[in-house]
Parts: sequence; structure tokens; C-alpha cells
Amino acid sequence: MNLIFLGAPGAGKGTQAESVSTKYGLPAVSTGNMLREAVKNGTEAGLKAKSFMDAGDLVPDEVVIGILKDRIALDDAKNGFILDGFPRTVEQAEALERMGVNIDKVINIHVADEKIIARMSGRRVCGDCGASYHIEYKPVKTEGVCDLCKGEVVLRDDDKPETVLMRLKTYHEKTAPLIEFYGNRGKLRTVEGQEEIKDTTKLTFEAIDV
Ligand code: ADP
Ligand code: ZN
Repeated sequence: MNLIFLGAPGAGKGTQAESVSTKYGLPAVSTGNMLREAVKNGTEAGLKAKSFMDAGDLVPDEVVIGILKDRIALDDAKNGFILDGFPRTVEQAEALERMGVNIDKVINIHVADEKIIARMSGRRVCGDCGASYHIEYKPVKTEGVCDLCKGEVVLRDDDKPETVLMRLKTYHEKTAPLIEFYGNRGKLRTVEGQEEIKDTTKLTFEAIDV
């Protein structure tokens, strides 16, 4: 089974992708996490990506498509995978089709812009393993420390308020057209993002299982 999670930045794609990953035993592939890792390690792709990410813009398609292609070729993805944050443009979706990847369902997590802005200020991420948290909705057990790997939990560079607004604008311009793209292919399932993570998870599982 190959799934895609669509949604605005901060809609909760990553969190839901992780739950689905655990339930179905499929790897969650987050291009955002892979890009942050590449930036941290100073790889060639990372050097290209950093300025775009800090500005709230998308990283160029050729960089992201290359990273994604290598990732889904790995052994753990041979029975399926969950894409979180890819595709983010119609060009990327077309590239996926050209690779011969068949997508079973696209889960679109819908959250209104005002809510997104309020949520993002509380978002935190583990600098080591990429796990995501929220000071209110999903706090760590020990202040500043990742529950999973004991890494340091920080505010992402691009979660600053100015950048959040840019990222939302980028989402509406470049990513939202994918709702129609996958709707036309009969693959789209929209899930209304709830206040509580577990309530969204329940709706997400239902959307996948029907
Ligand atoms: P969010 O979903 O909260 O915006 P991500 O972690 O998915 O965060 O992505 C962070 C940043 O990484 C994006 O703002 C963008 O610059 C870059 N990025 C991630 N995935 C892609 C992609 N598929 N195409 C282009 N840029 C991407
Ligand atoms: Zn961690």
C-alpha cells in the first residue's frame, strides 16, 4: 500500500503519517525530515535546500525528486510507504507517476489557516531524530528532551511567525492544486483535522480502511 499525506504546513501530516506507519508497518517518508537532515550534514542537496527552506519557499523539484527516488528504492519501502510532504507540486506528482509508482490513497488533512498559525508557534522538533511535538497538544515528557532518542527538542528555524505566513502562501499557490489532481483520479480522502491528535488519527484510519 502506497499512501500520500497532503495538507498545509502544521496540519498534522507528519504526526498522522507516524501513527499510520506504526499501525501498518510501512515506513513514513518525510521529505522535510530528509531535507533537514541533509542541511545538518552539509550534503550537496542540503546546501542547495537551506536558503529555500529558511525563506518558507519550496526546495527545487529536481533536488527533492532525487532524494525521494533514492529513498523509496530502499528495501524497507518495497511493500509500500507513506509519503509525508511529497509531492508538493503538480510537477512532483507527475514525476511520481513517471516513476511508475501507484498511489492507493491520498489523505488530505484539512485545517483552516487561522488554526494553523496558532498551532505552529507551539510546534517543536527533535534536532536529532526529527520527531515532532507541540508544547500544548503533544508535550515531551522531560522539558527540552526528545522522548524517543533523548535529543534536544527545539523550535524549527522555519517555524518563526514570518516564515509560517510565507509557507502558507506557498502551500496555497503550489500544493493545494494537488487536491484537484488527486480528486480527478478518485484517490482523495479528506480528513478534517481535530483539536485532539487522537481524534484525527481515528478519522485517518477510517479514511484508509474504507
Ligand atoms: P511542513 O509540512 O510543516 O511545512 P516539512 O517538514 O514537510 O514541513 O517541510 C519543511 C520545508 O522543507 C518546506 O517548507 C520546504 O522548504 C521543504 N520541503 C519539504 N518537502 C518538500 C517537497 N516535496 N518539495 C519542495 N520542498 C520541500
Ligand atoms: Zn529524537
